[in-house]
Amino acid sequence: MTHQASPVIFWFRQDLRLGDHHGLVHAAAIAQEKSVPLILLYILDDETPRQWRWGGASRWWLHHSLNNLAAGIASRGNNLVLRYGPADKVLLALVAETGAQAVFWSRCYEPFAIQRDQRIKAALKEESVAVESFNDSLLVEPWQVQKSDGTCYRVFTPYWKRSLEVMELPPLVPIPLRFTHGANIASDALVDWQLLPTKPDWSAGIEQNWRVGEKAAEERLHNFWQTGLKGYHDQRNVPGIPGTSGLSPHLHWGEISPRQIWHQTKHYMAAQGGAVDRDGEHFLREVGWREFSFNLLYYFPHLPESPLDKKFDQFPWHDKADLLPAWQKGQTGIPIIDAGMRELWQTGWMHNRVRMIVGSFLVKNLLIPWQKGEEWFWDTLVDADLASNAASWQWIAGCGADAAPYFRVFNPLLQSQKFDPDGRYIRRYVPELAQMDDTNIHCPWLAPEDKLRRAGVRLGDTYPLPIADLAATRDRALAAYQTMKLAVAG
Ligand code: FAD
Repeated sequence: MTHQASPVIFWFRQDLRLGDHHGLVHAAAIAQEKSVPLILLYILDDETPRQWRWGGASRWWLHHSLNNLAAGIASRGNNLVLRYGPADKVLLALVAETGAQAVFWSRCYEPFAIQRDQRIKAALKEESVAVESFNDSLLVEPWQVQKSDGTCYRVFTPYWKRSLEVMELPPLVPIPLRFTHGANIASDALVDWQLLPTKPDWSAGIEQNWRVGEKAAEERLHNFWQTGLKGYHDQRNVPGIPGTSGLSPHLHWGEISPRQIWHQTKHYMAAQGGAVDRDGEHFLREVGWREFSFNLLYYFPHLPESPLDKKFDQFPWHDKADLLPAWQKGQTGIPIIDAGMRELWQTGWMHNRVRMIVGSFLVKNLLIPWQKGEEWFWDTLVDADLASNAASWQWIAGCGADAAPYFRVFNPLLQSQKFDPDGRYIRRYVPELAQMDDTNIHCPWLAPEDKLRRAGVRLGDTYPLPIADLAATRDRALAAYQTMKLAVAG
């Protein structure tokens, strides 16, 4: 028998929003129907994820997102309860403390989260506490998309084709107008979690570039339709212009649901009478890559740590990592790489095309293991996401599912000339090269001395000389690949 006022708990995780939130709406309805308090909970758990605890940029975002969520909840008559510690212990203790009768959450797909949630479910059932989880983060959950033989897809195109066949999206649910009241229980103060950097405070650039929260996500989507959707198909690869949506951190933190993006973009496309259909479909297909990444993480839980292609266990990396700091700081002497790495450091985000270029340079030209790049991205990206980050790094390294073959080495110089032809992106993030002309800005080490002088560039002084010879390191990468193949064969 439950206590008369046994509350209902809704546990927020990667779903920091109130709109289109099936789990939240369900919990709120039960609390209302039973006239019991509704506890809206967030737990900061730095222990369970081990090395995948939130990195610095993620913590910055989380702070603001929680503030935002708390304000939205307060304006609807309830409050967000914050607790710190291993989530299973904290949650079970809260259930005991309040005599809660039911707990609801939306599903996460990280291996440690799945295991933890299974433990919690079992413990709650043992105590006769009702527990139910919801899908509020994906269009299609991994177990819904399998090949006819019951195995998972490893290649994106057939995966996405099948996803579109099985996808049955429920309609969007509106934000609850009001919540029943909360319980009178203690909450941590957000500031005490110290999620924001202090000494040094590196967050000014991130602060300038982002507005956090559900409303900002919605506005970004609407703005993207007006300014970026038409032409997305061609412009999404050009880092110097705002040619993509920039929705990745909002999606990662669940400030907007992929269902909202899907339904609303389809609606917008229909209203444009076919004029943006090609671009719209391409955009939604990119959202499909996020789904594919979760699919891979679900079926290959070691994805963040070890290569899917086991051959790569024997890859002869140059694990000295002495060149890693130059890459991290954007001081490699290759302008497109430095622009990307500085964009990341300054804004907490990097354009997808440039993520591929800097990733390939690290893994192939420098022969540094992909996990080092993955770790740096984990700490510095505001959209750092275990599934997308790991799947993308494995893709870059040629050891993942649907990966580009290892021997296809990106040439950063050609990539730079093709996708940043007027050097606009480089000029923005590498201002010491701003006066170089459109030809030489991509490769100052090849520029005639007088051009460098006129642009105020002194190589090795105002801007570094390249830390790697692109042609020689490409050959070295191909040789390393052959060494691995021989080691595997022998
Ligand atoms: P848009 O082009 O507007 O795409 C819309 C949405 O689709 C994105 O917000 C994102 O959720 C999804 N998406 C687009 N491309 C991809 C992709 N290749 N893989 C997975 N999802 C995609 N994305 C993350 O969200 N978190 C990461 O930690 C992450 N790490 C990456 C690491 C590397 C080495 C590379 C090459 C890519 C990584 N990506 C990651 C994927 C991609 O770069 C970003 O999702 C994209 O740049 C986000 O920009 P956008 O929102 O403007 O994308």
